[in-house]
Amino acid sequence: MFDAHCHLERMADANEVWQRSRKAGVHGVLIAGVNAEGWKKQNEMHDENIHVAWGLHPWSVAHATGEQIQEQMDLLQKMLADPPVQPIALGETGIDHSKRVSKESRDIQATVFRQHIRLSKQYNLPLVLHIVRAHEQAISILKDEGLPPAGGMVHSFSGNGVDAKRYINMGLHISFSGTVTDVRRKKVREVAKNIPMDRLLVETDAPDQTPITRPRGPNEPAFLVDVVNAVATLREETFETVAKRTLRNACLLFKLEIP
Ligand SMILES: [Zn+2]
Repeated sequence: MFDAHCHLERMADANEVWQRSRKAGVHGVLIAGVNAEGWKKQNEMHDENIHVAWGLHPWSVAHATGEQIQEQMDLLQKMLADPPVQPIALGETGIDHSKRVSKESRDIQATVFRQHIRLSKQYNLPLVLHIVRAHEQAISILKDEGLPPAGGMVHSFSGNGVDAKRYINMGLHISFSGTVTDVRRKKVREVAKNIPMDRLLVETDAPDQTPITRPRGPNEPAFLVDVVNAVATLREETFETVAKRTLRNACLLFKLEIP
């Protein structure tokens, strides 16, 4: 299995968490970027199975001053031009119109999102997209700027089938998190059931979004088993088929060797 999106760098016991994940059958993970402080920790954790993407998360953008955003975007450009470790993607970036972020931050979120898209094209890195309740605007910005040839993924997809189709037609992958383990999330489960197999990715978003099938507490990549299981059941496939196919899809998207 490949955990296409997590935040191992935020976990105090990351070493043990990673050992448990390996035992559970997780071959590799992508640690998505949130802010400059996290990028440093990500780079320290980077190895042949722990991959990194740098980006300024929409929440980080919403909670920063203009100056702090500028500083971090400058550092991001510097890291891309002279990478301390090899990133396999750029992000997370995107737009969040949920209640967690202020309406006033929407313009600056969109501006920083556009900057990320331009950098992803300059360095031909796949985009890691965080899009919540803003699919219409995100798609229009993606179309306006144009995608990098390397493509990208919509992480922890929460839209409907129509949104999914539009992303897929643009060449993007769709990644499902622990939300698919919750039978009340009918819309997202329907999408996980029906999207083309070659665009399917799975993730935990650990330590966030613990699957409903696990006790309350921090999520970890080992729980990717539950996500794969839920997707396999929905698609009437075996666990093995979905585990292998999503690992292969991740390796093709991120240009990693297929194990
Ligand atoms: Zn994330």
